[in-house]
Amino acid sequence: MEAIGRALEAILPADRIKTRLIDILSYAADAGFYHLEPKAVVQPVSEDEVRALFRFSHQHRIPLTFRAAGTSLSGQSVTDGILADLSRHWQVMKIENEGATVRVQPGITGGIVNARLRQYGKKIGPDPASINSAMMGGILSNNASGMCCGVAKNSYHTLQYIRFILPNGMTFTTENKEDYTRFREQCGDLYLTLIGLRDRVRSDEHIRGRIRAKYQTKNTVGYSVNALLDFDEPLDILAHLLIGAEGTLGFISEAVMRTIPDYPEKSTGLLYFPDIHTACSAIVPLTESGAEAVELMDRASLRSVEHLPGIPALVKTLPKRQPPSWLNTRATRRRSCRSRKTNSSPCQAPSPSSCPQLHGKSRRAGLPVEDPERHVPFRWGRKAKRDHRDSGRHRRTGCPPGRRHPRPAGAVHQIRLRKRHHLRACQRREHPLRGHPVLRHAR
Ligand SMILES: Cc1cc2nc3c(=O)[nH]c(=O)nc-3n(C[C@H](O)[C@H](O)[C@H](O)COP(=O)(O)OP(=O)(O)OC[C@H]3O[C@@H](n4cnc5c(N)ncnc54)[C@H](O)[C@@H]3O)c2cc1C
Repeated sequence: MEAIGRALEAILPADRIKTRLIDILSYAADAGFYHLEPKAVVQPVSEDEVRALFRFSHQHRIPLTFRAAGTSLSGQSVTDGILADLSRHWQVMKIENEGATVRVQPGITGGIVNARLRQYGKKIGPDPASINSAMMGGILSNNASGMCCGVAKNSYHTLQYIRFILPNGMTFTTENKEDYTRFREQCGDLYLTLIGLRDRVRSDEHIRGRIRAKYQTKNTVGYSVNALLDFDEPLDILAHLLIGAEGTLGFISEAVMRTIPDYPEKSTGLLYFPDIHTACSAIVPLTESGAEAVELMDRASLRSVEHLPGIPALVKTLPKRQPPSWLNTRATRRRSCRSRKTNSSPCQAPSPSSCPQLHGKSRRAGLPVEDPERHVPFRWGRKAKRDHRDSGRHRRTGCPPGRRHPRPAGAVHQIRLRKRHHLRACQRREHPLRGHPVLRHAR
């Protein structure tokens, strides 16, 4: 660590390089549960310093990771390489076009941007719940979204221009028309690769359909490959791939975002429904009538806040238990299997004919289902619990369900043999999981 610190001093002043144990440990986690200790934490203040850090990373083969506020939940902003902390600098913002757009650097929080936009009756589209801490670099790179923005007003859709530095040090901005030509001339390989990907995706109807379907709901898993369908120019495609790329494609040094109205009058209502099925059936009419956000809270959520000041007294008087509903059947039943308290709750799922898949799944999993056609309500009890256990064992051992299983000597051994056989099959050349670390370990 000392050595890397000294090497970094060729790029940055010593007071912006942190290698003390206390600094390393304090940057070893973000809001998620991963723990990776960086070799050094650096605080670049200019694009030149970021370019120099990219060069250093290449020369020394040490990964470079950016960190804005560090509120990511899946380890995006931790590393065992070099961590570039942007939270102390990069805080310039400028409101443009009477608040219609806002120019931001990565180290400013979404909350501050919104506070300054308020005088124009505007706000940025993305609205993660962490907006008062989360910074624009992280909001853009995670393509963060929240209760209201959904998939229409996220960073991907509200991005106007972006300025970025590629790991090879080249800097481009989509605001400059000449950069489109420069990108073709100076990054020929990347340019052609993007065109190749774009054309391949567009010519395949199946992939096209899958991408369209996947991005109708929130999808920040992997790169924003919908950019290959949405944009023609390779530079625009790359600019939008950067949104949600979690810093893996380059460094975002500036972005211009289109803003959305921040209405001066807002109202919030709390509506009560007898069960989740009825609540869910109200979502579409509510959305169509103009509701910006509809959040569903189950009985347990309400119970956790019913004692707080400001919560209507009625909440305390609601029935203690939320009746099971078929929309959350899987979760309810999983809990029911383990909980003796639910002994007498009949499952109220619709008939097998109305939902064969649901019932099929439940039956295969050995879970009870009330069949209204036969008018035999299911009641949890000792027998039922044993049946449930039995059917689990049935799946493992092949014994008929509902019968006590003789445990023949060597049965466990048989199961182990079968597992070993399966693992060996997995390791065969043609198996897609061949080479999987867990399987290799199992050998
Ligand atoms: C209580 C809580 C609530 C949350 N609610 C939501 C929510 O409603 N919706 C949601 O989407 N997320 C939510 N999050 C997750 C997280 O807060 C957001 O994704 C947020 O946008 C991350 O911003 P950040 O500044 O903390 O980014 P960081 O965690 O610091 O970084 C995120 C990623 O961006 C990269 N990055 C940062 N700056 C740059 C840059 N200049 N160039 C390139 N890459 C960069 C980092 O390398 C990292 O991969 C929540 C987190 C918490 C703790």
